[in-house]
Amino acid sequence: VAPGERVAVIGGSATGCETAEHLVVRGAGQVTILDMLPHIGQGIEQITRRHLVSWLRKHGVQILTRAKVTMIEPNQVFYEKADGTTEALPVDRVALALGWRARGSKLTEQLDGRQVLSLGDASRPADFVAAINAGADAGLTV
Ligand SMILES: Cc1cc2nc3c(=O)[nH]c(=O)nc-3n(C[C@H](O)[C@H](O)[C@H](O)COP(=O)(O)OP(=O)(O)OC[C@H]3O[C@@H](n4cnc5c(N)ncnc54)[C@H](O)[C@@H]3O)c2cc1C
Repeated sequence: VAPGERVAVIGGSATGCETAEHLVVRGAGQVTILDMLPHIGQGIEQITRRHLVSWLRKHGVQILTRAKVTMIEPNQVFYEKADGTTEALPVDRVALALGWRARGSKLTEQLDGRQVLSLGDASRPADFVAAINAGADAGLTV
């Protein structure tokens, strides 16, 4: 991102918030986080969330909540507001931080019904603790 560029970060969960913080530190111009939920930072532990969100506000990051992105064009992002109207946000760059989901792996297709344990994010994207717990449980049951 060149200094002064306007960036839309779409998705305001942990990855989106941390990306916005990084962009500010790297000298981006107006950084805007858009999320369709009423609050950003969902899923982040409360004290960290409060600190991160106040840091973002203090450094001029525009936070648009209840803003559902419906279309991206080269220089603008369209989003639907809670009242059903649509607005356009002028931007130079877009970062997508829309989350992720597990998908089956082709690697296990050839195993002819043998037991396959799918653990951690491969089963359900979550966090370190969930992945470690799943590994520990599997270790105790195999
Ligand atoms: C940007 C970001 C920030 C995060 N921050 C946090 C946080 O602060 N706290 C927290 O608790 N969680 C956080 N998470 C979530 C956490 O990283 C994951 O939940 C956790 O790493 C899941 O562990 P895992 O072992 O299932 O998968 P991973 O840690 O993703 O490990 C999978 C490994 O498999 C390897 N791999 C994939 N395909 C193949 C292949 N075909 N052959 C060989 N190797 C392969 C990958 O290279 C990788 O090393 C974050 C995730 C992201 C993306």
